[in-house]
Amino acid sequence: MLHEKISTEESWLEQSIIVLKGVGDKMLERFARRSLYSLNDLLFHLPIKYQDKTRVVPISELRIGESALVTGELVQCKTQYARRAMLNCTINDGSGVINLRFFHFNKQQATSLAFALEQGKWLRFFGEVKRGRRSLEMIHPEYRIIEAHQLIQVDETLTPIYPTTDGLSQLALRNAIAQVIEYLKRHNIDAEHSASIADELVHDLLPSSIRQQLKLPPLLQALIYLHAPPPDCAVFELIEGDDPYRQSLVFEELLAHQLSMKCAYQKQRQHLSYAFHSASKQLKNHYRQLFIEQLPFKLTSAQSRVIAEIATDVQQPHPMQRLVQGDVGSGKTVVAALAALYAIENGFQAALMAPTELLAEQHRNNFQQWFEPLGLNVAWLSGKSKVKQRREALKSIADGSAHMIIGTHALFQAEVVFNHLGLAIIDEQHRFGVHQRLALLQKGQELHVDKNGFRPDNKQSQSDNKQHQEFYPHQLIMTATPIPRTLAMTAYADLDCSIIDELPPGRTPVETVVLSEQRREAVLQRVHQACLNGRQAYWVCTLIEESEVLQCQAAEQTHELLSNQLPDLSIGLVHGRMKTDEKKAVMQSFKKAEISLLIATTVIEVGVDVPNASLMIIENAERLGLSQLHQLRGRVGRGSQSSACVLMYGSPLSKNGKARLMTLRETNDGFEVARKDLALRGPGEVLGTRQTGLAEMKIADIIRDQHLISRVNELAQTLINDYPETVEPLIKRWIGKKMDYQNV
Ligand code: ADP
Ligand code: MG
Repeated sequence: MLHEKISTEESWLEQSIIVLKGVGDKMLERFARRSLYSLNDLLFHLPIKYQDKTRVVPISELRIGESALVTGELVQCKTQYARRAMLNCTINDGSGVINLRFFHFNKQQATSLAFALEQGKWLRFFGEVKRGRRSLEMIHPEYRIIEAHQLIQVDETLTPIYPTTDGLSQLALRNAIAQVIEYLKRHNIDAEHSASIADELVHDLLPSSIRQQLKLPPLLQALIYLHAPPPDCAVFELIEGDDPYRQSLVFEELLAHQLSMKCAYQKQRQHLSYAFHSASKQLKNHYRQLFIEQLPFKLTSAQSRVIAEIATDVQQPHPMQRLVQGDVGSGKTVVAALAALYAIENGFQAALMAPTELLAEQHRNNFQQWFEPLGLNVAWLSGKSKVKQRREALKSIADGSAHMIIGTHALFQAEVVFNHLGLAIIDEQHRFGVHQRLALLQKGQELHVDKNGFRPDNKQSQSDNKQHQEFYPHQLIMTATPIPRTLAMTAYADLDCSIIDELPPGRTPVETVVLSEQRREAVLQRVHQACLNGRQAYWVCTLIEESEVLQCQAAEQTHELLSNQLPDLSIGLVHGRMKTDEKKAVMQSFKKAEISLLIATTVIEVGVDVPNASLMIIENAERLGLSQLHQLRGRVGRGSQSSACVLMYGSPLSKNGKARLMTLRETNDGFEVARKDLALRGPGEVLGTRQTGLAEMKIADIIRDQHLISRVNELAQTLINDYPETVEPLIKRWIGKKMDYQNV
């Protein structure tokens, strides 16, 4: 039982849930799987939906798709044997008839129901109403046998349904949370006349002036309301609408996230980094200038602006934390190269991490071409490097002879020891987890202070008095999944953002066509003709599951098929399970136009850059998210000739599915695509693993609640400035242990 004695506010809610009735050691473990340890954790574990058992609904008023509590006479009970046994009960409540069906049942259940039928008993049951063949029906409702015309007791509040995990039942969760709520309710009411004791138990962290100003109802009231809503409340408003109690909690949760990210940002900012010198007279070399001179094109003004923003950051003595958002093909690689050269000019190493072998490989080719003429060494590290190459690369990274290091996740493995990493660049960050990003930083940091006091030439003086301090590399993050501003303000609040909002000149927009796969033959002819005319094309095979093996198989089969159908074309194949050398060879000959049609899996999604390729066919396009399709499509339209992308869908495709693909036909703008994609799939899917914190919010939804974000941001700043003591408790309350990247 709950301890009745109230001690201080902390100690009561901080108690382990073991004090609750029905929670023993075993249960404790199960609650822990959902990160629920204290009463406080339970209090902030909010329902995702509700069941209404506060009233009995006449059968004639039932609505399909809704769940309802019903009572009525059992008028028929039969076990039928079609393909398998099924128990069927018919209920009549005078207003109408409904059928209850059980596919899983035991003998005892069947016997007791048959007996109840004989005795003229009634049933009280709850479940979702479906349209049956002859009448309404419920599949596997919860039920209880009751006496005829028995007055049944209904619930006083709506029944909350909580997010849960395997092994932790809804009932256990509900029981535990109900005890906490009961306790608070009792003390809230008891104490109405004096200072509310419960209010002290659940300490309101928002300053009351702010709560009043924003017209947010008190925290405790909101919590009680959401855990145990009264029968007359509008459930829809409560789950996703403008219910003021919900809004109040949503606001606080968004605020907590904002604060936690701002704190993470501040924390990073307190670290030390080397401030790069900009004036070229202090530098021995002028790599940036030489590099720009040798480029076959002029930087776009958006590129120049972003490069200037980066330059300002790296001249600071604390780490840059900059995110560059830029649509596919906006030219992020050149920006990365210039940032890297900045570090190198200052005597530091720069590292670039890419999410796939193929992309890392391509970056390596580019950087070698760009940097080697400047006399700089580019080292390469991938999971698939050969032992000898690997050893050499590791050596050059450790002894400092490698200026630029390019690789995949392999970069943050234990044996990689940087000599003096000054800049870490992460490409296509949405493909990485936050932990991977931080692992790379950690790497730069842990090895930054050389035991021998080695510092790049122009840093000698700094090193003398800062021998024992840790230095972090600057960090530059790049993404081609641009997101709307309000969302970026939340999702990337721990980063400074730059946007490359301009494509290099001379690009012709990709024309996108949506076709049923029944038109495959015609598409094939068109591809054939185009290739004969000297154009190059990608043919992309997709699969719904992330199973790489199956996807590669599909590509292999398609390759065989198309090679037979179009024997006069040179057709290549590239997929993730090929050896690095094989992949490289295929990509090289595609680049050299020796291959005219390239069959590929989605490995070519990011970064692949073959400007002459102007046609792309994506099979089963309906299986991919819009942002991913947009990425893929970005592989064409890189040259000056007009390009096309054919999205082929497997029929039949739902109206919705088709409408989704049509969005891509209508726009070539990555922001617009991302906006639609977010609305359709939610931020967790679109933004990838980095944002799991946002995808797992207790009550807020950053799409649905985005209208609150600018106010939340303002308030976060006010709290940090004027009420700093509230910041940590708010973060702890709402985010708890989950956001561990804060501690990095
Ligand atoms: P992304 O932003 O998708 O990573 P890339 O960096 O791969 O784009 O650049 C796409 C292509 O555009 C490359 O072939 C690159 O050389 C070219 N490019 C980059 N900047 C410019 C520019 N200012 N003018 C013309 N072409 C450019
Ligand atoms: Mg890129």
